Amino acid sequence: MSRLVVVSNRVAASKLSRPGSEGGLSVALRAALRQHGGIWFGWSGKVLERDYGQPSVAEVGKTTFATIDLTQRDYDDYYKGFANSTLWPLFHYRLDLAEFSQRTWKGYERVNAHFAHRLQPLLKDSDVIWVHDYHFTLLAEQLRNANCRQKMGFFLHIPWPALPVFTALPWHREIVKALCAYDLIGFQTDEDLECFQDYIRREIGGEVGENGVIRVFGRTLRAGAFPIGVDTETFAKMAEESETSNQVARLKKSLIGRDLIIGVDRLDYSKGLINRVEAFEHLLTAYPDNRGNVVFLQINPPSRADVADYVDIRREMEATAGRVNGAFAEYDWVPIRYLNKSFSRRVLAGFFRSSRIGLVTPLRDGMNLVAKEYVAAQPAKDPGVLVLSRFAGAARELDGALIVNPYDVEGVAERLQEALTMPLKERRERWRSMHRAIAVNDVTAWWADYLETLQHGKRIP
Ligand code: UDP
Repeated sequence: MSRLVVVSNRVAASKLSRPGSEGGLSVALRAALRQHGGIWFGWSGKVLERDYGQPSVAEVGKTTFATIDLTQRDYDDYYKGFANSTLWPLFHYRLDLAEFSQRTWKGYERVNAHFAHRLQPLLKDSDVIWVHDYHFTLLAEQLRNANCRQKMGFFLHIPWPALPVFTALPWHREIVKALCAYDLIGFQTDEDLECFQDYIRREIGGEVGENGVIRVFGRTLRAGAFPIGVDTETFAKMAEESETSNQVARLKKSLIGRDLIIGVDRLDYSKGLINRVEAFEHLLTAYPDNRGNVVFLQINPPSRADVADYVDIRREMEATAGRVNGAFAEYDWVPIRYLNKSFSRRVLAGFFRSSRIGLVTPLRDGMNLVAKEYVAAQPAKDPGVLVLSRFAGAARELDGALIVNPYDVEGVAERLQEALTMPLKERRERWRSMHRAIAVNDVTAWWADYLETLQHGKRIP
């Protein structure tokens, strides 16, 4: 078995954090690294004035955690600039928010080149390299230019946009050409894959063949859909255990028997937060019996707070939630509990299990792990209902959810009412079919399947 080298913008802490506080993906990648032995390489999270030093290295068992720092200029151009103010909005169909600047594009190229330069001395010829996400589309090309011949895979955690959206990016061709230096490109859904294939055929005149094979730019590579899963069993166990925790007991006590609707998202404009609050408002207007009887808990940990669009969404969210509370609250009931902080996954698991509805309504989302975690956390005997946007990657697998169009505020309110009044039998049937999907395709199956395809050319389903 080859040694595995994982590259991602952020690297999980080399020391284990508190149980339940680490993300499912990071736990899964640690497990893959433990099994294969290898390196996890990425940014340390530190921004320094001076130029790059050598990577800091920490050994934990068979895994080496190697991190490098960014200069302020690189942080501004590559991370805050091109990654989070160009690629993130564009890939989430927010052309109106995407900024295009030669300066940040150059910074993105520069940092991809630096990462390749720092990674190369750590590599062995027989390594398999797995690069994650939109920060590093150019990395394989940089490594190939330095004569690296290893197998290299890329996985995109966010959506791949449709041709007319993607081609608005002035550097669309450079990015795709660089991506084609990988041997395997993984997407979250068939739809993302099809958009990419469409670009290869129509924009470049490349060939898309059987079994995910693509021939273009004088290279042959493969592309496939590998929908990411969650740590289903562990999460379910955490949810059950957390039921007796102090936090969950406090939450339940505060509800005094009212139904709870829960939303959990980074505070990001792609998550459809304003539409969601408006849908809840419409529920209270159209179905007044819910007043005093339903509570909506929206948890929004702040994110990318130094990017202007994130300051705007926070202000807008505060204003909208405040307005709805002002209009509907009574002296003994507040309809929306809006929290601007994060919780450990263990506590969230317990909160999900205590909620009648999981409300997940992104305007566009690569997968949305919260949707799958909500399903994993439900008790089989009395499961809650997932109300899920059709524009989340998870909607392709979670057919038992009430699928909604998040732009249709009144439609979402109708589905919320349906969920609040759904008979137990139907709730169970819907949950069972969703649970089957997330139990089979959990996060371990996901990475094993991806690496098997990358290493041994396994057929793409
Ligand atoms: N999460 C968390 N604490 C919080 C909010 C979210 O641990 O307060 C976790 C959540 O359980 C999930 C992840 O962060 O595992 C969010 O992943 P998702 O795909 O839903 O959204 P993303 O933030 O990657 O866009």
